[in-house]
Amino acid sequence: GGGIRVLQVDSIYAKYGRVQALNGVSLQLKEKSIVALLGANGAGKSTILKTITGLLKPYQGTVSFLGERIDRLAAERIVTKGIVMVPEGRQIFPESTVMENLLLGSYTRKDRAQVKQDMEYVFSLYPILAEKTRNLAGTLSGGQQQMLAIGRGLMAKPRLLLLDEPSMGLAPIVVQEIFRIIKEINHNGTTILLVEQNARMALAISDYAYVLETGRVSCEGTPDILQKNEEVLKSYLGG
Ligand code: ATP
Repeated sequence: GGGIRVLQVDSIYAKYGRVQALNGVSLQLKEKSIVALLGANGAGKSTILKTITGLLKPYQGTVSFLGERIDRLAAERIVTKGIVMVPEGRQIFPESTVMENLLLGSYTRKDRAQVKQDMEYVFSLYPILAEKTRNLAGTLSGGQQQMLAIGRGLMAKPRLLLLDEPSMGLAPIVVQEIFRIIKEINHNGTTILLVEQNARMALAISDYAYVLETGRVSCEGTPDILQKNEEVLKSYLGG
């Protein structure tokens, strides 16, 4: 269908020194969609997130956000435009409280009333955080820390939320809960790019997916189509 194109990545190439990491990757996200980026270790998933957030400049190709080229902008500028990344490994501040961690997500905002409302929203998604606002973040369980990281991202009021491996290191039951909440955040209107090694779970909640192999998109499509693809079945769904 239609829908505003929130993100458009056009044939980007990137490298680390002499290591070629991306070899002409193109992808797009429509407003309010949830799109999965799948692939094995080293396929280039994190590198794509770095080029979108401005931490790594592609040497060829373009990245556009809401119709504007952003691939030459500094990372700080890109954040203020509304692209918010929740990094892999739940990089919260363990020695700060849950409340302090959440407020860090909103530090550039001046709309106090709206910030308060967004915090209530985070608590409604995951009420345990509301009970633990004064606890040190480092004392939370793995799943709670992951939800704190996502909550901190939401406090920045993202127009595009990038999630890097939210299932990493979590028990299956916890992963299920996190994915249910990710889907709810998407339902509430947030556009999401979800990087995952857990292809099965990611496909279950996504509208569309790209499979990455050695810096290229090897296949793409709706979950229905990809779940029937022999290569995807064999390599990523253990079938
Ligand atoms: P993972 O799940 O392990 O993070 P990935 O799909 O995110 O995998 P990337 O981290 O994007 O893959 O890595 C893509 C390629 O770039 C790999 O060959 C990797 O070894 C290389 N690479 C990544 N980061 C660096 C770096 N800082 N310096 C040099 N090479 C790097």
